[in-house]
Amino acid sequence: MKKIQRALLDWYDQHRRPLPWRDNTDPYRVLVSEVMLQQTRAETVGPYFERWTTRFPTVEALAEADQEEVLGLWSGLGYYSRARNLHRTAMIVCDRNGGRIPDTAEALRELPGIGEYTAGAVASIAFGRCEPAVDGNARRVLARLFDLEAPTPSELRQLAGGLVANDRPGDFNQALMELGARVCRPRSPECQSCPLQAPCLSHARGTVDLRPARRPRTSIPTYAIGTAVIVSTTDRALLTRRPENGLLGGMWEYPGLQVDQDEEPIAAAARAIRELFGDIAVESWSDGGELTEITHTFSHRRHLYRAFGFRISDEPVPDLSSTDWTDARWCSADALAELPLSAAQRKLAQIVAAIETTGAEAPC
Ligand code: SF4
Repeated sequence: MKKIQRALLDWYDQHRRPLPWRDNTDPYRVLVSEVMLQQTRAETVGPYFERWTTRFPTVEALAEADQEEVLGLWSGLGYYSRARNLHRTAMIVCDRNGGRIPDTAEALRELPGIGEYTAGAVASIAFGRCEPAVDGNARRVLARLFDLEAPTPSELRQLAGGLVANDRPGDFNQALMELGARVCRPRSPECQSCPLQAPCLSHARGTVDLRPARRPRTSIPTYAIGTAVIVSTTDRALLTRRPENGLLGGMWEYPGLQVDQDEEPIAAAARAIRELFGDIAVESWSDGGELTEITHTFSHRRHLYRAFGFRISDEPVPDLSSTDWTDARWCSADALAELPLSAAQRKLAQIVAAIETTGAEAPC
């Protein structure tokens, strides 16, 4: 075990990437980076982390922030429940713990959205606790190192817990994950330059490509969403806010409804308008045709947004009482840019803006 620790830490000391969260192990910054890194690559997280810690440099600043601003800064990073949970965690930590992030994995796991991985990562990196942290990259390295076909999460935690270096647990965990991201990659791992080649059982047995066994692909259902890009006579667009809990909770969107069986997508978009305004007069500004369609894949489902342009006179106040939306707002282009939108909705907004700018199919 000592040899594995030494080899990995030596490699890490020479090859680690200069990521923005690595030079400062302030617990709040470590927590933010680890939550952002759940399901997301380090290269993508970098700029989001910089913006976030500039705007919310402390856990107190985050606790005091408005949720709309929190979601806005997370906009585009996906898995928005992470942002809502991080915000709630900040409020809990400030309310009950004087703004101090708990320093044990056990206490961290009590906080919203913090599971085994994040608790182990924060406890080891920020507080030097000898805790394992097994993400997808570490899982792959461990499965190959010990030649395991389909290790369970608890087996992996046990293995990693036995390996983690007492004197540098945070660095060891990061080194294991970094090795998986850069050397022990899913395809074409660079075994020739790997610091763990000597003890690696899969390498010795020629089973590297089989470890860990690939999980069978499950097919993801696709749902079409008839989406209404409603503009007023002053060219402001109507955006609605999704319910707090659930998919894209609290995010803003062009109103849309799932297309029913045997329903045309434009009819679902028109249904969304009726839910908001009843039988109001609308006209199409996309000649009854589709403005665009955008696909967005979540972990368990895919949305196909099929967007149509509608114009409504003036800016009537929508009635949300029988809808799932919790708020609605007529927005100028500038105001819209400030709202928290998912990547798909942001893309739709850009397409609508481009149509307006070039004049093609533009609202008059
Ligand atoms: Fe992965 Fe190859 Fe290193 Fe084994 S020797 S840990 S398979 S890169």
